[in-house]
Amino acid sequence: MERTLSIVKPDGVKKNVIGEVISRFEKSGFKVVAIKMLALSRQEAEGFYIVHKDRPFYGSLTTFMSDGPIVAMVLEGDGVIDKVRTIMGATNYKDAAPGTIRADFATDIERNVVHGSDSAASATFEIPYFFSALELFQS
Ligand code: UDP
Ligand code: MG
Repeated sequence: MERTLSIVKPDGVKKNVIGEVISRFEKSGFKVVAIKMLALSRQEAEGFYIVHKDRPFYGSLTTFMSDGPIVAMVLEGDGVIDKVRTIMGATNYKDAAPGTIRADFATDIERNVVHGSDSAASATFEIPYFFSALELFQS
């Protein structure tokens, strides 16, 4: 069964939308098979977003992502990688479709509330970044 890594980012935790984000995923039929609240160090945020290391926003992004607690989760279901991206909305909330998480709750392009793996290859890197095999359950 397909799996993806999602994160309620520090701004989403501060905005009290942890439950709202999880609820949207659950109402779409996806199962939470792992979940935890934690705070990333700057180095851990840099490692997670290493694919963006040469982008101009890398420094600011990794500062933001290590600015407070996050909620990381693994979701499971048919087509979950692409469907979670649809539920999230476009990276820039100004381009996000109405009713998406980012359209409803993001306040700028960086503070966009939620992360979701963008491909199977990304999920394969991102899931074990947060969860060991013993922390992943079957739905
Ligand atoms: N980001 C940013 N400025 C940009 C593009 C991205 O601050 O111009 C931030 C934003 O928080 C985004 C994250 O960097 O969610 C990762 O960027 P990516 O292009 O992977 O977007 P995503 O996959 O999260 O939609
Ligand atoms: Mg991405």
